[in-house]
Amino acid sequence: MKRFFSIALLSVFILLCGCSQGGVAEKSLFLMDTAIGLRLWGDNREQALREISEKLLLFDRDFSHTKEEGELVSINSRNENSVMLSDEMRTLIGQAILLSEETQGAFDPTIAPAVNLWGIGTENERVPEEHELQDIKSKIGYQKLELSGNMLTLPRGFMLNFGAIAKGYASDVVRKILDKHDIPSAVISLGGNVYVRGARQDGLPWRVGVRDPNGGENDIIGIVSVTDEFLISSGDYERFFESDGVRYHHILDPKTAAPARNSLRAVAIVCDNGARGDAYSTALYVMGYETALEFWRSHNNFEAIFIFDDYNIVITEGLAGSFELSEASGGYTYEVAER
Ligand code: AMP
Ligand code: MG
Repeated sequence: MKRFFSIALLSVFILLCGCSQGGVAEKSLFLMDTAIGLRLWGDNREQALREISEKLLLFDRDFSHTKEEGELVSINSRNENSVMLSDEMRTLIGQAILLSEETQGAFDPTIAPAVNLWGIGTENERVPEEHELQDIKSKIGYQKLELSGNMLTLPRGFMLNFGAIAKGYASDVVRKILDKHDIPSAVISLGGNVYVRGARQDGLPWRVGVRDPNGGENDIIGIVSVTDEFLISSGDYERFFESDGVRYHHILDPKTAAPARNSLRAVAIVCDNGARGDAYSTALYVMGYETALEFWRSHNNFEAIFIFDDYNIVITEGLAGSFELSEASGGYTYEVAER
């Protein structure tokens, strides 16, 4: 199998082929629990890069559910039911509530108590008892969130987790900074969230790799050629533990407070908004293929790639001209879903 360094570096790797001319500003960071790669072209690239780095540092603190000094921790450890939010937090929570409604709670930021109970990816990871899951379900439900101006009200015991949306939201904010500095092309990669701006300097689309759920972190099943788009993936391979031969992964179904179980291994979303793409990738995984496909049919604002546990792939119609199976993707086949 062909080896690359991850989706992040893959994009960069491919992009280098088209961008030998023109100065590039680049930086690698580890923030928001993920490897971040930033590559920018254009006259104001250094300035923009600095501003982006500063912003991501703030998000790393304020959207973290463990950093004591950050805003999310102060929301989750509030003494009262109501708490006053910063403008940035209000914007993020406002979007999160809308996306919860739209996905009928398949994406739900109040999943936090279940995330903490399972502790997947932490030293506390374990399979909870059935009664613990029952108990925790009463502390999940976006319908209980009330946002009025900058005032958020949520019941006692309720907590928020932005793991499924913060990186997408951050990439939207990065896009605004790139706009402000007239940056013509860039590749912004926050773990499984990639934003490619403009086209490559040779005028060709960017080529972004889609990770193989059955491979190592450097293996891809295919490549999507995109211009000015977000490509955002969720999968059971990102964070999981195994117990008695069962894989317990980090994408939880808010209805059961347990890892979503269906025929999917991963979902990738291509769309023009980071927060939406991020919430959708998680939500469509939770919904399962049939419901997710209906969701796609009733929404015109994204395309999707579904990767199944039997090595089948379905791509939605809008990607038919831009998806190609990787040469190295041994065993995978794909078909196109029509509207
Ligand atoms: P993603 O990688 O974007 O699919 O997000 C997964 C992360 O979001 C997990 O590690 C949890 O912290 C959190 N999460 C898990 N399930 C959900 C869900 N159904 N809705 C919202 N957040 C979730
Ligand atoms: Mg997500």
